[in-house]
Amino acid sequence: MKTDISEAKRLDEQDPLSKYREEFYTSSDQIYFDGNSLGLLSTRAEAALHNLLASWKQHGIDGWTEGEHPWFYLSEKLGAMTAPLIGAHAEEVIITGSTTTNLHQLTASFFHPEGKRTKILADELNFPSDIYALQSQLQLKGFDPTDHLVKVQSTDGNTLQTSAIMEAMTEEIALIILPGVLYRSGQILDMETITKAAHQKGIKIGFDLCHSIGAIPHQLSDWEVDFAFWCTYKHLNGGPGSVGGLYVNKKHFSKKPGLAGWFSSDKAKQFDMEHSLSPANNAGAYQIGTPHVLSAAPLLGSLEMISEIGIEAIRGKSLQLTAYLMELVDKELFEYGFTIANPRSDSIRGGHVYLEHAEAARICKALKANGVIPDFRKPNGIRLAPVALYNTYTEVWQMVQLLKSIMKDESYKAYENKRGVIA
Ligand SMILES: *Cc1c(COP(=O)(O)O)cnc(C)c1O
Repeated sequence: MKTDISEAKRLDEQDPLSKYREEFYTSSDQIYFDGNSLGLLSTRAEAALHNLLASWKQHGIDGWTEGEHPWFYLSEKLGAMTAPLIGAHAEEVIITGSTTTNLHQLTASFFHPEGKRTKILADELNFPSDIYALQSQLQLKGFDPTDHLVKVQSTDGNTLQTSAIMEAMTEEIALIILPGVLYRSGQILDMETITKAAHQKGIKIGFDLCHSIGAIPHQLSDWEVDFAFWCTYKHLNGGPGSVGGLYVNKKHFSKKPGLAGWFSSDKAKQFDMEHSLSPANNAGAYQIGTPHVLSAAPLLGSLEMISEIGIEAIRGKSLQLTAYLMELVDKELFEYGFTIANPRSDSIRGGHVYLEHAEAARICKALKANGVIPDFRKPNGIRLAPVALYNTYTEVWQMVQLLKSIMKDESYKAYENKRGVIA
């Protein structure tokens, strides 16, 4: 492979998704590689939000049942639009809550300690919010999280071994919560194999899809995953604080949610106002209260675009972008002490590249000062997400050239090697 810009230009010219970049608010003096933390705004998402506001303006209270997207059915509609991204049936998916509140709801619904099966299995690399939620759920049931939250250990600090996860599935484990894609290293877990092993041991299992939804395909229904949950502001480009989502496998439909509210109701009965809940016979049963309609609206536009392209095409370009980035790092930056700490193989590499470097915090600051937006992860990680929908191969090339010059002239040393408030 050539390392000059002609290769990047050639890849951009051949890119069948290149036209979608025009639908996003990108800036010519910025290279945005942080779409795995907050995806960019598209004109379609913006228009969808404006349309929703217009329906409020026009219909007032009747907007719940009238207008182009009646609000009463919006969560279900967005769930159906999301289902193909995770290989689920439409009625198994609902847009509601946030990652953390959905994890609370699903743990309250699926963690049934009994006899000596009283523990939850997670992993030591997971995002803190998931861990805090699980600790508090254990406490609510009277268990001490220090011995009831079991965390699979990583041998290299970045990845998890399937065999280590399986070995941790003891007779004391009642529930397993793992990420689909690890938020730092971007490792994809073998969700199918892990789910099969869990079920053989009589354990229920759910996945956090924050870093996998919109980045890689899933087959949750075929794999018989019990449940899953995610946010929509990363690879789904729903905007800051956009409403999250959850999936519950059909086989669990008849059950009552752990945390109930009137939006858990069968929609036909909700306005009967009875004091005994008749839960919806679909994933909608895991909703609690009135949906955050305005924070869900942009998803109408962004999910429409994603379904038009298809997750397979998105994954195809994403793999090419990250492969190109890794190749340039190998060839152009090898003398500057970077380690590629994400898995290299296509089958287990998620949507971003994860570089490690002892000076990572101030290298990120130098990148930012020069118009590149990465994100820093304590203590020494630089996450770079070239996103299939709006990033280009030329941007990848430019970023690597910039990184090279920052290292060569040591301009990163002008910054303190400490993280900012949000990094
Ligand atoms: C982004 C992310 C979250 C964020 O949770 P919120 O409830 O949306 O704040 C949680 N867990 C993981 C693994 C994440 O990547």
